[in-house]
Amino acid sequence: MNRKLIAGNWKMNGLRADLQTVRDVAAAINKTATAPDVLLCVPATLLAQAAVAAEGSALKIGGQTCHLQVKGAYTGDISAQMLQEAGATHVIVGHSERRTLHGETDEIVAAQALSAINSGLTPIICIGETLDERTSGETLKVIEKQLGGSLSGLTDAAAFVLAYEPLWAIGTGKVATPDQIAEVHDFVRRFLMGRYGQAGDAVRILYGGSLNPGNAAEILPISNVDGGLIGGASLKAADFLSICMTACALTE
Ligand code: PEP
Repeated sequence: MNRKLIAGNWKMNGLRADLQTVRDVAAAINKTATAPDVLLCVPATLLAQAAVAAEGSALKIGGQTCHLQVKGAYTGDISAQMLQEAGATHVIVGHSERRTLHGETDEIVAAQALSAINSGLTPIICIGETLDERTSGETLKVIEKQLGGSLSGLTDAAAFVLAYEPLWAIGTGKVATPDQIAEVHDFVRRFLMGRYGQAGDAVRILYGGSLNPGNAAEILPISNVDGGLIGGASLKAADFLSICMTACALTE
């Protein structure tokens, strides 16, 4: 069983006052061998301060996207090296909101993930189908294509994390059923083992999509679910910590 990773994605939420949430989470999690890894991906403006707030604790801090280049004339963008220098250990790439609203393709996502790895960050690479794709029975075909494209050039299975996030479950309160989650996660595991051999077994595959304190106990024990990527429920320390405790209880 892989050590679980509970990752929060604050998206475009959070001002300085919300650093108290980071402090509260940092103070409550522990470093025991059975505890899950815990990560908060905060807006870039808060990253350096969040990293300071988490110092000395087991809490890790991450970014939410990065450019595929290290530097250059890319107004408004942020590079993986910048995130790393500000205190990030991880970065989300290919979140569906980036793919949909910013036109990020599988090829771009793969280049972002490589740039993250080259800058010493662990990319969390997101994949997931739309509702139309699911209802027309194309989920696994879509997932296979996204995996092939988004992992292009990534040779080290230990260098990245995957997150399966069905688009229709993100921020909607609609959660995929345990059977739907298990089917995709098992498929992703087989894909990874086909590509990376035994090392593919150790890649963490997170589930994301309306994961909350009320459903974590049902979702986190599903086979090949190695943690969660959590949006809305990561904004309140109590909710996020409740999910962390559920993950902790599974490994005790
Ligand atoms: C996400 O943004 O990755 C996500 C899963 O959001 P939510 O938990 O709010 O559905």
